[in-house]
Amino acid sequence: MIVPSRTPESEPRRWQQALKNAIRDPRELCRLLELPPEIEAAAMRAANDFPLFAPRPYVDLIERGNPADPLLRQILPLADEEQPADGFSDDPVADLAAARSPGLLHKYEGRVLLITTGACAVHCRYCFRRHFPYSETPRSVEQWAPAIDEIAGDSSIHEVILSGGDPLTLVDPLLAELAECLAQVPHLQRLRIHTRLPVMIPDRVTHELLAWLRGTRLTPIVVIHANHPAELQASAAAALGRLADAGIPLLNQTVLLRGVNDDVETLIALSERLVRLRVMPYYLHQLDRVRGAAHFETPIARGLELIAALRARLPGYAVPHYVVEQPGAPSKTGLT
Ligand SMILES: *Cc1c(COP(=O)(O)O)cnc(C)c1O
Ligand code: SF4
Repeated sequence: MIVPSRTPESEPRRWQQALKNAIRDPRELCRLLELPPEIEAAAMRAANDFPLFAPRPYVDLIERGNPADPLLRQILPLADEEQPADGFSDDPVADLAAARSPGLLHKYEGRVLLITTGACAVHCRYCFRRHFPYSETPRSVEQWAPAIDEIAGDSSIHEVILSGGDPLTLVDPLLAELAECLAQVPHLQRLRIHTRLPVMIPDRVTHELLAWLRGTRLTPIVVIHANHPAELQASAAAALGRLADAGIPLLNQTVLLRGVNDDVETLIALSERLVRLRVMPYYLHQLDRVRGAAHFETPIARGLELIAALRARLPGYAVPHYVVEQPGAPSKTGLT
């Protein structure tokens, strides 16, 4: 097979090195980014509840000395996280009630979500699973056997979503084997992957990844998660280009975050950038009310204004669906 020259196949483990080298110490992050000492002290405390984890390629995109940088706000533990807030809880979307077998969530008709791993390429401070009781990272496909049996026994399921955590923190041979097991289930049609890795560690889009995505009988769909146009610089753009060139449909989810992307110009620039990179804006999520993330909440009324402004200025396909997850609802709930 001919390998496109841009594909970093010669160093398929470079992305794993990037995960190993990620910044975990709030002091290191604050010093590197030249942040004031009071921010450092608060970051140390808030990281006790949900540790800091930030890959260096992403940190490189953050402006030095600017505590308000929209990329920094997504990863920096803040004193605000320690403030109790009414209505914010550990399991805001009732994931635990939706578990059908270990790691398998079945909330919506026709599709199931498989928690493949607890590991991520980044710890997003607003993550709705920041308190999720993940078990050990799987080392073999056997650990998914009960979930695969469940899926095989229910012919109403047509799509499996690999989620987590972030499934692309797992190595390709393991993922390829999982995809192969799933492809043997006759009623499955699609394999969806929810991942931040093409944005956080673009080297993750290796030749091996493209090979199994292209090789499976199932229709692959990759859903990335970008919140701000500044996340989509040259190397992320190249990684997304490799996926698009391989014929993989690409979608994006964004979380509406106060102080990150709650303004018209940022959301327009994000949609324009995504479409340019052949990624279709899919969902704009109202924040899930997870404990520690109240300071990110944007009122729904503001979200509706933003969507109206986007609709007035962008082609229809570039306007994401503004949705919220309501526990017990049969799908994500549209807000417009
Ligand atoms: C959000 C979610 C999905 C996917 O919903 P779509 O509207 O198909 O994108 C599937 N399963 C679970 C458990 C979810 O939380
Ligand atoms: S990448 Fe996704 S699952 Fe991981 S911390 Fe961020 S929002 Fe949560």
